[in-house]
Amino acid sequence: MVLKLYNTLTRKKQVFKAIKKSQVGMYTCGLTVYNYGHIGNYRAFVASDILVKYLKYLGYKVKKIVNITNVDDKTIKGSIKERKSLKEFTRKYEKAFFEDEVSLNIERAWKYPRATEHIKEMVELIEKLLKKGYAYKTKDGIYFNIKKFKNYGKLARIKLEDLRKCARINSDEYDKENPRDFALWKFYDNEDGNVFWNTKLGKGRPGWHIECSVMSTKYLGQPFDIHTGGVDLIFPHHENEIAQSEAGNAKKFVNYWIHNEWVMVNGKKMSKSLGNYYTIRDLIQRKFNPLALRYFYLTGHYRSQLNFTIESLKNSQNSLKRLKNIISEIKDDGKVNAIYLKKFENAMNNDLDTPKGLQVLWALVRDETAVGKLKTIKKIDSVFGLDLLKKEKVVVPANVKKLVNEREIARDGKDWKKADKLREALFALGYQINDTKDGAKITKIWNRKPKLPLS
Ligand SMILES: [Zn+2]
Repeated sequence: MVLKLYNTLTRKKQVFKAIKKSQVGMYTCGLTVYNYGHIGNYRAFVASDILVKYLKYLGYKVKKIVNITNVDDKTIKGSIKERKSLKEFTRKYEKAFFEDEVSLNIERAWKYPRATEHIKEMVELIEKLLKKGYAYKTKDGIYFNIKKFKNYGKLARIKLEDLRKCARINSDEYDKENPRDFALWKFYDNEDGNVFWNTKLGKGRPGWHIECSVMSTKYLGQPFDIHTGGVDLIFPHHENEIAQSEAGNAKKFVNYWIHNEWVMVNGKKMSKSLGNYYTIRDLIQRKFNPLALRYFYLTGHYRSQLNFTIESLKNSQNSLKRLKNIISEIKDDGKVNAIYLKKFENAMNNDLDTPKGLQVLWALVRDETAVGKLKTIKKIDSVFGLDLLKKEKVVVPANVKKLVNEREIARDGKDWKKADKLREALFALGYQINDTKDGAKITKIWNRKPKLPLS
């Protein structure tokens, strides 16, 4: 029984074999920090986190790199609009990104390199590409010549001829040989404000794709084991990463490409104009526990589209609460349950089948005759990251206590309306009341206080 992962490069489920015996190098395309990340972004980050946690479960050390894209058209535009320096503008969203990661129980990566701090290395790779004839200079920038790289299209399975036919970019706009040739370096123009670097290549700034080629291999070497991201990044971003790195360094770039599918909202693609766009912060403000979102992500296989609705998130939140309640009643009962753990591993080894894994978890907690539940749940939760065993030490503030007492009195007097109102008031303060035979049980809706937007 071994871990199999679906590799986009081969379009097959393959047995995972690390380059080094017990250590995995992994790169996840991070956030462009011009805005708060949305639930589509975080599906990718949670999927990558599940993979990290499962690799650790299997005994590997994992070196994960997540890049911070802090220079591109959007970040420059945003900083100019807000009359802030690029650094000041992007650091706000960078901080928010880290807060969101914490609230979703995403383990800290080994490093979070920033694009702006790796300009020197990007210039070096671009110079290499120029020297080898894979790149050319025009009036407005330095471009990668995709015709020169014979494997171009191998990840996305796209042929050059098709690309030329369907290229939507008007080639007149740019001084490029092929409309799909992409910028490695953009020469300075006025729209960049005060964002530029004076380098051997000329005054300007890097293209987007080059940062991932450079920052992944700087820290992980080439080739490295796993590169992850959303399916929307396969083309052109990841295709271009391969082209740059393999043309520049003349060896394979990455062994396993893992891509997660979209999150749809109410059956539609998420977009701000449709009003179906959610950040983690939006959900917290609606009193959702971020871990309910994590649970929701786990209910779908990462390679299937997931349809998000507020209703489905409520269901996930209820399921998570129920699960935690049942678990809180379990008494410690000895060794790990090998049968259930095996079932869990079978699910996860099959390309990280988290929906199946959740089924195993539910079957375990409901199985009245099973032994070793708590230790088994602990192992499973080391991968799922749902804080299933975390005892919430609830220090109940006086104002909350007062509301709880009032509610008890209302219930004793059978004033259900008032009792419900008080329950809602408590929820707004971040407390959930469960009525048990021993009286009202108070739980905190979230374990760590997630920070709300700074502005
Ligand atoms: Zn990337």
